[in-house]
Amino acid sequence: MLLLSTPALAASGKEPAPAGTFDGAPPQYTRFSARELSRGFLALAFGSDLLIGKRPKGIRRYDHPITIRVISGGSVERGAAMKKIIREYAERVPGLRLAIVPAASPANVEVRLIDEKHFNAALVAAFGAKVARRFIARTDPQCMTSVKSNAAGEIVHSVSFVIVDKGDAVFLDCAYHELLHAFGLSSHDQHNPWTTLNQNRMVGYLSVYDRALLTILYDPRMQPGTTPAQARRLLPSIIKDRGLAAAAGR
Ligand SMILES: [Zn+2]
Repeated sequence: MLLLSTPALAASGKEPAPAGTFDGAPPQYTRFSARELSRGFLALAFGSDLLIGKRPKGIRRYDHPITIRVISGGSVERGAAMKKIIREYAERVPGLRLAIVPAASPANVEVRLIDEKHFNAALVAAFGAKVARRFIARTDPQCMTSVKSNAAGEIVHSVSFVIVDKGDAVFLDCAYHELLHAFGLSSHDQHNPWTTLNQNRMVGYLSVYDRALLTILYDPRMQPGTTPAQARRLLPSIIKDRGLAAAAGR
């Protein structure tokens, strides 16, 4: 008789949403197989449905410590809440080497807090009428991030627009979602049940899953410009060395 051990395929370690997020935020799984992490990383770190101009082939991310500023605005004051979220990213993903700078200083990442009714005008001001019209027609956006990178895949500047006047759930979901884009996870995956980069879900916190994807992206081995084929080869050792999977070898 032959006994085969079947590797667990489903995420496990279900936990309620952490304190501090909106009422009704979904619970999260906290343990994933290497395959579940790899699949999500390959889907979310390559390509983008919000791209201006030429499609870069490889990984896009910052290759130096990241500065970020929050430009408050809109009718609900959420600057302090936004900074708290940024500090959470800085602490939980040390590879970002993320530091908040004053609103008036130049920074790699700009987070602009706005009311929904000013969203279209903000897009026009940032990108010009033609590009803004294309975004609005294609994506019916609620919040948005634009990422500018060079030919080598290094991000040179990110701008995120986060809406503050449509309640806590919209603000929190947008804030966590758009920061992932700003750091280089530029795609969406509407079939992935664990990430906030699935536009059919509202999450509103930094999940264990998204934190793992960002940790992989900012591992020194995952250089800007890394191709999907190279990333596939790198992923098992990065996931293993950083202890991100539930058990080795899965
Ligand atoms: Zn998005």
